[in-house]
Amino acid sequence: MLFLLIAISLLCCLAAAVLIQTFLFRPPRGSPDAAPYDPGEIPGEVLERLSKAISFPSICAQNYAETDFAPFDGFIAFLAEAYPLFHSIAVLQRVNGYALVYRWKGEDASLLPVMLTAHYDVVPVESGTEAGWKYPPFSGAVAEGRIWGRGTLDIKSQITAHIEAAETLMRRGFVPKRDFYFVYGQDEETGGFNGAYKVAGYFAERGIRFEGVLDEGGFAVSGILKGVASPLALIGVAEKGHANYELTLEGEGGHSSMPPAHTAVGNAARLCAAIEANPLPTRLTAPVLRMLRSIAGEMGFVVRMAVANIGIFKPLILKILSASYITNAMVRTTFAATMARAGSAPNVLPQKAQVLINVRLLHGDSVESVSAYFKKIAERLKLPLSVGILTAEEASQVSPADGTVYRRLTALIDEVFPGVISSPYLVMGGTDARKYYKVCDHVYRFTPMLVTNEEKDTAHNTNESVTIANYGRMIHFFTRFIEGFDKPPAF
Ligand SMILES: [Zn+2]
Repeated sequence: MLFLLIAISLLCCLAAAVLIQTFLFRPPRGSPDAAPYDPGEIPGEVLERLSKAISFPSICAQNYAETDFAPFDGFIAFLAEAYPLFHSIAVLQRVNGYALVYRWKGEDASLLPVMLTAHYDVVPVESGTEAGWKYPPFSGAVAEGRIWGRGTLDIKSQITAHIEAAETLMRRGFVPKRDFYFVYGQDEETGGFNGAYKVAGYFAERGIRFEGVLDEGGFAVSGILKGVASPLALIGVAEKGHANYELTLEGEGGHSSMPPAHTAVGNAARLCAAIEANPLPTRLTAPVLRMLRSIAGEMGFVVRMAVANIGIFKPLILKILSASYITNAMVRTTFAATMARAGSAPNVLPQKAQVLINVRLLHGDSVESVSAYFKKIAERLKLPLSVGILTAEEASQVSPADGTVYRRLTALIDEVFPGVISSPYLVMGGTDARKYYKVCDHVYRFTPMLVTNEEKDTAHNTNESVTIANYGRMIHFFTRFIEGFDKPPAF
């Protein structure tokens, strides 16, 4: 009896502690009714410059050496012609031929510089989809309150917005306190190894480190998560790693009329099925936990209670997140069998079968540990597996979701997009930004536009376009970012 009483009192205490934690938990809340910054009428020539920037089909070939650089040359010449003031003050250094590094010298050389970066290569238009475009993808058409074409969302608009912002300030005679670098890669969509990677090396060799780096990244998006009413401004603080594993299984060969129990193809299929059936365990990493804390206030009592008492409810949260393939990718290393190759004729036993597994690495797993995991699965099935690693990058360093640069970003988001909740997030894909951890610990990814989920999905897709209002907001955001960086009272 006494034991029962003690157990009940302990349970009551625990429930009380959980409730108190929940009520004390005060995540930021947005006010959905607040209007975002209205840029007003945008001068025609500003739109024309973006429109012209879009007109260059600067598409990087998968094999870099096969790239047609004429549109890249055209884009660089266009920048010089369209922005003479910027080019008369900022000094351009080309790195590895086509990566553009502009330095706008500040007053105080003792302060670490800030880098604004983006890329000017774009993805190609998938053949057969051209007719689906309302306006041709390299027209830069200005119509229906938008600018249309490849690069409007990903991401030439961020480059021209940076430079419009700089020129606006230069016309006012503004000189930044510290150096600002404007860095534009030419091969982000194919990995960034000829652009951002070389630029990071260029800075490292010269001993130049940065106070902060701001690259393209998450937008302020409405309707991205069910149950979250306010739009979220997603600030990328880290990126998952990625690797392509080529798994090879040898077979005996011979005539298919007298086959063994398992051919190389059969074994490859068994291995793929086993890999899919045995995902790596889920894990709550720092960026995802911080994101949950930022958005929990929008998500009703139960979620708030679970996040406020994470120590108790972590298994439940992981279970919920792993139930959807979108949020599952936030909490575990994912495996996707994407390619397969085997066999030469219907009646010939294949001597080998190869499958390609595309892996996205969560922090805590590594290229090597996943390789060992695949070998362990094959061993269990008694399959003679050889593992080749075609390309690989480990998960990136994690930038702090606080500190001067992060706080300036969130303050500016509050100013330009009132009612939007800023949240750190883990980038599932890859951007140029990861290359800059070599020279900076505070690397962020954010694109200051307020878009719907559907609009966001036109990036890399048909009818990619940006609203004129959003383009105006981008220019305003970067103007305020540069002018306010060393003048906190202006925020
Ligand atoms: Zn991009």
